[in-house]
Amino acid sequence: MPSETGLPKQRKLMSDPITISAKNLGALAMPDFCPRCFWIGMHVDELPYQIFPGIFSSIDSYNKRLVHGWFDRHGSAPAWLSPLGNIKTYRPPPHYSKFKIFDAESNVTLWGSPDGILVMDDDSHLIVDYKTAKFTPHQDSLFPMYEVQLNAYAVIGEQKGFAPVSGLALVYTEPVTDPAAAAKDSNQSDAGFVMGFSAQIERVKLQPGKIPPLLAQVREISDRERPPQARKACKNCLLLEKLLAIAGG
Ligand code: SF4
Repeated sequence: MPSETGLPKQRKLMSDPITISAKNLGALAMPDFCPRCFWIGMHVDELPYQIFPGIFSSIDSYNKRLVHGWFDRHGSAPAWLSPLGNIKTYRPPPHYSKFKIFDAESNVTLWGSPDGILVMDDDSHLIVDYKTAKFTPHQDSLFPMYEVQLNAYAVIGEQKGFAPVSGLALVYTEPVTDPAAAAKDSNQSDAGFVMGFSAQIERVKLQPGKIPPLLAQVREISDRERPPQARKACKNCLLLEKLLAIAGG
């Protein structure tokens, strides 16, 4: 019999603890989410071909240092964060080993590592995530994943000393690479060149109620004895089958 998630009911292994990051939980909200891929990811220690360019995390770290440094030197938020409202200060985001909660219903531990926690003038908290990407209003295909990721941070934050969480936002930082910027002599020096970034802010609706059903879905998929069916339209699984057929001789 299908469950509420549309997936067949499986044997429960509720005794097996599961740990999942806010970002990986967000994968379940993507329109092309594949339970098979998720199941495989949960059951192997490491997937092959996982190459992520380190430059993006370097830029995100730089972003955090810029914001915190500005607050420390000037006692106020940088002007490009002004669309977020009256920000009083910031609180250093805790290490992910401390920013986690346990959900007894699903026996799942949810952890995260928010980029920024801003304190508003009413002492509530606004959680932000920096994304180095071109900004197109409401058209980021990864938005459903980011929405869950930020709401997971809100749920964790509420229980880990950051209550109340009053808002969530994505801060897109987009490289300025137009011909005018390239033509500026001031963007070059003996050491190299300077590339600016323009910031765009997109608010994310606070919807903590989205998180418990997703944790239940993690449990349900993970407890299956066998991997779910492959998505029909996914050419990667067909390629993998071909690869295995060739390798198998
Ligand atoms: S169908 Fe696609 S997304 Fe699903 S397991 Fe296969 S390769 Fe992964």
